[in-house]
Amino acid sequence: MIPGRGLARRLHDRSRRRRRRAGILMYHCITETDLDPWGICVSPAAFDEQMAVLSAARAGADLGELRDPSSFTATGSKIAVTFDDGYADNLAAALPILERHEIPATVFVIGTAVGRTREFWWDALERAVLGDLELPEELRFPFGTSRTFRIDDHPVDIAETRTWRADLDGPSCDRQQLFRDLWEAIVVLAPEEQDDAVDYLLEWAGHPVDAPAPRPALTADEFADLAAHPLITIGSHTLDHASLTDLDPAAQHRQIARGRDRIRELSGLPVTRFSFPYGRYDATAVDAVRRAGIELACTSRPVAAIADDDPLTLPRLQVLDDDGDTFARKLYDDHRLAVGALSSL
Ligand SMILES: [Zn+2]
Repeated sequence: MIPGRGLARRLHDRSRRRRRRAGILMYHCITETDLDPWGICVSPAAFDEQMAVLSAARAGADLGELRDPSSFTATGSKIAVTFDDGYADNLAAALPILERHEIPATVFVIGTAVGRTREFWWDALERAVLGDLELPEELRFPFGTSRTFRIDDHPVDIAETRTWRADLDGPSCDRQQLFRDLWEAIVVLAPEEQDDAVDYLLEWAGHPVDAPAPRPALTADEFADLAAHPLITIGSHTLDHASLTDLDPAAQHRQIARGRDRIRELSGLPVTRFSFPYGRYDATAVDAVRRAGIELACTSRPVAAIADDDPLTLPRLQVLDDDGDTFARKLYDDHRLAVGALSSL
């Protein structure tokens, strides 16, 4: 990392607080959990409080409104809700709360997620490596570049590992380091290999391999119900949740175009919204998104959006499992969003 560049980026980001702006929120799962190293789960109770804040501030906006430059305002008065991946709880847990507060949302669904009965690889990896079971001292991992890992520091403090954030905290034990190393090794494997790798890891750690997924994906019927709902717009999230920056341009194009086709077939509706898996993108990926007819695409860059942003690389704010007050304070203090409304609440 180049320190000077980081500083310039931070100053540039801060200047957004004075620009006409809008917010795009990123959610994944609406569920209770006690293991969430990426901070992607928000409990239904917290989500209800967060949507109540948007509703009281009259800030809830459809992502599509951000195609209109007048949606970016000096008080950051419009905030769009989005979900990534296509978890079943988006229908069962999130939708009733969105209905109660009349908040529209965009759900970016992985093409192959619909009707998927297997756990997503990143969820299975968490359970295998950061779960309650004591791990064997050695792991021979034969996928990708074959490697052997040692896990020497037994016993680990499970309670501490439960609150560890893989994206914020450095690894403080072999188990956390193993989790990071395996994540980096698996993210670049082909989709079938990813499933085989996590089955291998679950078995190695002593978990049943074919138990039902704790965080299942939408079934085809659930997807249809979600897609037909007037508050919901479905977007695409590639065919296989591909790490686009690890693919050549032809493979990027296939993932983006086929993911769009699959979602369009399932919903019977045009697909003009997209989000980049893992927030990873480059110039050829953005070009493939444009050629696929996408009008709005979201990254995971955690800043407010401004009217000058490329509509194909819009930044998004990851929302954590915060109560309504904390959620409102972060919007207001960190991003100057819903300023007029939240200052008077
Ligand atoms: Zn995703």
